[in-house]
Amino acid sequence: MLRKLLLLTSLALALFGGVKILSYHRFDEPQHPSMNVSLKTLERHLQYLKTHGYTIVPLRRVVENIKKGEPLDPKWVVITIDDGYKSLLKALPIFEKYDATFTLFVYVQAVDEGYGDFLRWHDLRRLAKRYDIEFHSYAHPKLTKLSKKEVLQDTLKGLHIFYKNLAYYPRYYAYPYSLYNEEIKQTIRYFPFEAAFALNNKEADISCDPYAINRVMAADFAQFRKLFEK
Ligand SMILES: [Zn+2]
Repeated sequence: MLRKLLLLTSLALALFGGVKILSYHRFDEPQHPSMNVSLKTLERHLQYLKTHGYTIVPLRRVVENIKKGEPLDPKWVVITIDDGYKSLLKALPIFEKYDATFTLFVYVQAVDEGYGDFLRWHDLRRLAKRYDIEFHSYAHPKLTKLSKKEVLQDTLKGLHIFYKNLAYYPRYYAYPYSLYNEEIKQTIRYFPFEAAFALNNKEADISCDPYAINRVMAADFAQFRKLFEK
């Protein structure tokens, strides 16, 4: 009886287990405390994952399982980075040291117009050889405040510039400010996006809508550890 119960429990965990898709923004930029993770903290995060037997997998691995309804391994973790700040370059040696892959969601207008603290297209072309670069809108708008036509225009413009500079179309969309609704989910499906992402501090599991996959914010080490120990 007990064995059966244990078997059922592990089966349920395997079927409904969640995965943390972490979201980072800036590195080593203490002047932006709410979006920043210091290099020392980033290293502690990656060391924690390694010590506790987590495997950092590419985002597509989780998306594919969600789309097929196949179980997610709760020991998987995904790293995503939003916006495309230049400070990522300072963190790169740490990601390399831990062989930690990530997906970067790019705020296209900021890169294209050379906003001061953003990466440039040449940085992104170099990063794209090893990491996945995906889409975070053209103008980083609050999509829920736009008309359907404006959402289409923002996306179309962003995709055009993205393609011109990176020579491929992104597959994934991360909603700016995590703002979206049913209509926005439908609207971005006019384009060939295979999945879209929220940032709502919930785990991703196979019950997720592929166009609103949950992510969790990664912040200081105490918060990070709490994510994994609950
Ligand atoms: Zn953003």
